[in-house]
Amino acid sequence: MARSPQGQKSIAVFGATGSIGASTLDLIARHPDRFRASVLTGGKNVEALIALVQHFKPDHAVIADESQYEALKSGVAGTSTIAHAGAAALADLAAAEADVMVSAITGTAGLLPTLSAVRAGGVIAIANKESLVAAGGIITREAQRHGATLLPIDSEHNAVFQAWAHARHDEVASITLTASGGPFWSRSLAEMQDITPAQAVKHPNWSMGQKVSVDSATMMNKGLEVMEAVVLFDLPEDRVKVLVHPSSVVHGMVQYRDGSILAQMGAADMRVPIAHALAWPDRLDWDAEQIDLTALADLAFHAPDDDRFPCLALAREASRRGGFAPTVLNAANEMAVEFFLNGTIGFLDIARLNRHMMESMTAGGDITLDDIIAVDQDTRRQALAWLSER
Ligand code: NAD
Ligand code: MG
Repeated sequence: MARSPQGQKSIAVFGATGSIGASTLDLIARHPDRFRASVLTGGKNVEALIALVQHFKPDHAVIADESQYEALKSGVAGTSTIAHAGAAALADLAAAEADVMVSAITGTAGLLPTLSAVRAGGVIAIANKESLVAAGGIITREAQRHGATLLPIDSEHNAVFQAWAHARHDEVASITLTASGGPFWSRSLAEMQDITPAQAVKHPNWSMGQKVSVDSATMMNKGLEVMEAVVLFDLPEDRVKVLVHPSSVVHGMVQYRDGSILAQMGAADMRVPIAHALAWPDRLDWDAEQIDLTALADLAFHAPDDDRFPCLALAREASRRGGFAPTVLNAANEMAVEFFLNGTIGFLDIARLNRHMMESMTAGGDITLDDIIAVDQDTRRQALAWLSER
């Protein structure tokens, strides 16, 4: 069926100064006919945000760190961009009209902007998996209520979204997310004991922000992604499979009950899923690398190893327990990664802290956004207590 491409879309990039932000802005810069940046946000790095404002001339720029407001204001003086600062401005501008809101802040800091875009009934291209894990039920409920559309950018979920096509829910037997295995896939537990932050943030196939790189190294990233897929595709955890696939060519698959498997393949370049989400329901010709399948040595797939990478099994347990368990595990893990990156704990302690917090949590009842925020904050306080008692 012929479909004519849409006109220029306005794109609000939350987390513009990060890795996903840079990939998104690269696509916007290649296609001024199709895209325009309307809002750009950054966390602390005001110089980086100012440089992006000079280049992309958005209507609004927000720096999350309020102490940088004056610096942002003077940096954008003489442009048509309005400067803002702080969490409330982030949430307000996430609700402002944009054709697509790209949710690419890292961690639970992305939750309120994401929820605010969802409540405005917009199209949200979501990379920020932590919000879907911490508050998945609320986000999907509010998306239904307000008619918002969630388009996954996380490469595996984008792959599943593409391969799901127009199938009915009951036609799908399971979905598969692939994992590269991270930089330590072939190491023994003893060899993982002394891994440094510098080693952990060096991923073999993908170039990403620090948090998600450490998560890939522990395979908690795949755990978060299983919980993310449970939310996005409304499947129980045991129908979300994981396969280690070191060449990172196949990103995700849908196994149908009739025996067919549809897989999405592509280069290990986040611009592939981002281009899909930005142009959706069209497809963008952005000069993507077309992988040469004859040049591939193999397309091997392996079962994950829960003994060496216990975080994936912990995430499955959190998903089965439901309630606040994913919120607790997500917050514990954010703290653990922070402690590891600043040298306070070792690499294997990340899984230890995550397990400790899961074991000490109490079951929750009805879940509101305030409950989620309270549990998230309480988990972070307990993680600090765990650290000081060691
Ligand atoms: P990054 O660290 O490179 O960038 C994070 C962005 O969020 C930056 O703009 C930063 O300034 C901003 N930020 C950080 N803390 C903030 C706060 N408290 N308030 C407001 N803004 C804040 O991270 P990234 O690699 O771009 O990842 C972003 C999100 O996308 C993460 O949730 C990650 O899991 C997900 N993701 C990333 C990749 C990837 O390839 N990088 C792939 C899949 C999913
Ligand atoms: Mg991913």
